[in-house]
Amino acid sequence: MKIDQLVDKARDGGRLDRAEALELYLRAPTALLGRLAAAVRARKHPDGIVTYIIDRNVNYTNVCVARCNFCAFYRPVGSAEGYVLGFEEIFRKIDETIALGGGQLLLQGGHNPDLPLEWYEDLFRAVKQKYPAFKLHALSPPEVIHVSRMSRLPVPKVIERLIGAGLDSIPGGGAEILVDRVRKLLNCYSKATADEWLDVMRHAHRAGLRTTATMMYGTVETPEERLEHLFRLRELQDEMGGFTAFITWSYQPDHTELGGAEATGVEYLRTLAAARLVLDNFDNLQASWVTQGGKVGQLSLAFGANDMGSVMIEENVVRAAGASYCMDEIEIVRYTARSAAEKKARLTGH
Ligand code: SF4
Repeated sequence: MKIDQLVDKARDGGRLDRAEALELYLRAPTALLGRLAAAVRARKHPDGIVTYIIDRNVNYTNVCVARCNFCAFYRPVGSAEGYVLGFEEIFRKIDETIALGGGQLLLQGGHNPDLPLEWYEDLFRAVKQKYPAFKLHALSPPEVIHVSRMSRLPVPKVIERLIGAGLDSIPGGGAEILVDRVRKLLNCYSKATADEWLDVMRHAHRAGLRTTATMMYGTVETPEERLEHLFRLRELQDEMGGFTAFITWSYQPDHTELGGAEATGVEYLRTLAAARLVLDNFDNLQASWVTQGGKVGQLSLAFGANDMGSVMIEENVVRAAGASYCMDEIEIVRYTARSAAEKKARLTGH
């Protein structure tokens, strides 16, 4: 199909196949891609509201046996720089979050061999006992798989026990690119294959949890593989309908073993727009201003995003790899002011 016909198809809300999406992603002018993605967003969110959340990203440990080569955050077992947060410290962070108007922790960490399933259960129970209304958006699929392997329990059982202890939803981290050729090159194939990552989400959705989905692009993958990632997510969403939001960001190369350079802002905007066009069954797309900065974050709202993500009180993982953007609530509202009819804080969820 010619670009013009593809543009008409996308504009009319037609479902793109892999070849059509690739053609648009590679060849459509950037402004046109943005207009198409903005039209999809406007169809899904005709009120023009841009949402955001006040939450805190707490990385409970940086000790990790997975050793992904794109990661600057982890420390190997035995490192003097390794840490595990104590429960009291996590409570203190929750107190600070609540004081700032937040109601949720995004809790993720390394694959620490010293933390059994019971540690997570104890933590979740303790949080819920002390802060019954506080939400736990915790443990990305590779962390769930790590706990499942350590405890020798199947993934559905681990999810069931974590829900029993207070887990509210699962963040979509650790997806990188859901193509095994790429995962092998990034040394993240053994932590979770593409199918294993998707399977954790399938089990989580089956158990009634809502989850997000992510994509980290800009390492060794091809454009076709980025789109393959998006199509795998779309297929699972067709099947289960449990994803609340999609977030993409570019690989942050500083201090990583893999090295290399960061993708440009234009590439980010094109990728975000392509995601909006392919993921026709996702309601929410978040702007990743933490990696792209406030100004590109603001532009994201014209390229399909409808959510500014989190007023990050704390973030350590991309910060370790060089991203150091920070915004408070006033700034987030300022950055959305010209592009949204209204801004609205959400309490939980995506
Ligand atoms: S990305 Fe996650 S799993 Fe991979 S090395 Fe870093 S902390 Fe470990």
